[in-house]
Amino acid sequence: MPRIGSVAVFCGGQRGHDPLPLAAATALGRGLAKTGRRLVYGGGRIGLMGALADAALDAGGEVVGVIPEFLTRREQAHSGLTRLIVTESMHARKQRMFALADAFLMLPGGLGTLDETVEMITWRQLRLHDKPVLLCAVAGSATPLLDAIEAMIAAGFATASVRGLFEVAEGVEVVLERLDQLVPAASAAETGDAARL
Ligand code: AMP
Repeated sequence: MPRIGSVAVFCGGQRGHDPLPLAAATALGRGLAKTGRRLVYGGGRIGLMGALADAALDAGGEVVGVIPEFLTRREQAHSGLTRLIVTESMHARKQRMFALADAFLMLPGGLGTLDETVEMITWRQLRLHDKPVLLCAVAGSATPLLDAIEAMIAAGFATASVRGLFEVAEGVEVVLERLDQLVPAASAAETGDAARL
């Protein structure tokens, strides 16, 4: 059976105040590597992103970073990755990460993390893809986003069906279990949707 072999992870370019997100990023990087999954991420050395990549590399995993040229200094492009892809723009970064991944995963982070995750959810809502999107909750980190989505549904700006566009997984272990159960969607190229992205 086909398996989820490549996972794009969106997470903070900062470490946050609480130690739990950093521990989660490290456990996830290690877990992806140990289960033979490729990690696709933003390509930086800083914050949770850097810890995630380092943990996957230390465990012998394949790590692909995708970073726009103008951020290579600010986010300190990682020089030790399996592959670093430098794009011309943020849009190209997002599209490249999308194309390289079978599934998307959100760890705690800031506005960039939120933007990237919500875009994958909204592209799924528009039926541009059918790849799984998982929100990894670390000490309640997914709750504000879930509350915002519930408020939209209650106000009539989103239908209840949007709840089916993503899954919430409580912690890294649950994420890894779920990745074992999920199967990759047909690729956008196969479904003819690639041109619409
Ligand atoms: P943050 O969650 O704000 O720490 O950002 C995490 C990562 O998301 C960083 O690598 C940012 O460069 C990236 N990011 C921020 N905004 C966007 C965007 N609009 N599209 C793609 N990536 C973004």
